[in-house]
Amino acid sequence: MTILVTGGSGFIGSALVLHLLATGEERVVNLDRLTYAAVPGSLPASLADDPRYVHERADIADSEALARIFATHRPRAVLHLAAESHVDRSIDGPTAFVETNVVGTQRLLDAALAHWRGLPPDGQAAFRFVHVSTDEVFGSLEPDDPRFTAASPYRPRSPYAASKAAADHLARAWHHTYGLPVIVTNCTNNYGPRQHPEKLIPLMIIKASAGLPLPVYGRGDNVRDWLHVEDHARGLALAARRGVAGETYCFGGDAERSNLALVERLCDLLDDRLQRLPDGARRGLIRFVADRPGHDRRYAMDVSETTRSLGWRPARELETGLAATVDWYLRHEDWWRPVVESGATDRLGLPAGTRLAG
Ligand code: NAD
Repeated sequence: MTILVTGGSGFIGSALVLHLLATGEERVVNLDRLTYAAVPGSLPASLADDPRYVHERADIADSEALARIFATHRPRAVLHLAAESHVDRSIDGPTAFVETNVVGTQRLLDAALAHWRGLPPDGQAAFRFVHVSTDEVFGSLEPDDPRFTAASPYRPRSPYAASKAAADHLARAWHHTYGLPVIVTNCTNNYGPRQHPEKLIPLMIIKASAGLPLPVYGRGDNVRDWLHVEDHARGLALAARRGVAGETYCFGGDAERSNLALVERLCDLLDDRLQRLPDGARRGLIRFVADRPGHDRRYAMDVSETTRSLGWRPARELETGLAATVDWYLRHEDWWRPVVESGATDRLGLPAGTRLAG
């Protein structure tokens, strides 16, 4: 049996590929185009010799490549994570988000449907297409609003969220119209090892470790709910195994923090681990900067229904997970340094040549 993972070289995808290989017997095919977001080394080089793992370098918007990959590997499930995923990039250049997240998802759904139609009845009944989405499709909560549920109305507000919302609608339409056994998952912000250095937590860890200024949007009072990436990977594998076609599953960490509180905590964790900076505690590096346009105030998911139906709940406390994440970035400079050296983070105030202090 084979599981097809799209985007398996990215942050969540690599955690998922490693989880599937460690906990199951099935072959894992990773369909990933290797965009800038696929940091080399996120999957161990030893996988090249693993007969249960195959990498197919292809674009999810390339229908011919998809037809070949489905015909070659005949997966029993698809876990679809490939996407453009960075909100700030979507504001600067939305086209790639529509091409991959919307058009790419539609082409992948079509390829999966053609494959599913050719399966015998028991294969059709067991097949699952798990479309991996975000809580950002539901818009923005005020501080005292109840958390989002699967029944929350769609109110996307950034180009990224709008492209993911469009993809969610397409995925559900392929279930209702054509019968493809689709599951949609909506998850809160993930954190953990191997997240691209342009994202908030790695960016702040690397900058704070080096003593660089830490820009925080607005007053830092935007609230996010943080889930450890390995808890998300475990939930996605469960959804592919036990999820009911047509259902939506919500994943979240039950760990809401303001951006300011999160960055302050990272500073304290680094102060405990590295030499103090000449100017004192790393919290002193925090600088409030002009807010992101259309910045959503708060996201949080109510996962109680998913706990009831799948038996899933977050296992990692944010406090211990964050400390482990800080340790991972301090130990894996070889993983993130090439990204920084490439100049990819220059515009984020993390210049090539940045070194850990202490
Ligand atoms: P990521 O940017 O780290 O990785 C995306 C991967 O997809 C990369 O390996 C990239 O090479 C690949 N990819 C991009 N475009 C492609 C294309 N056209 N064809 C084939 N491969 C392509 O993203 P991530 O943070 O791991 O997110 C994975 C999924 O989870 C996304 O769908 C995202 O919307 C969703 N999600 C992310 C979070 C989060 O906090 N990171 C939270 C909820 C949901």
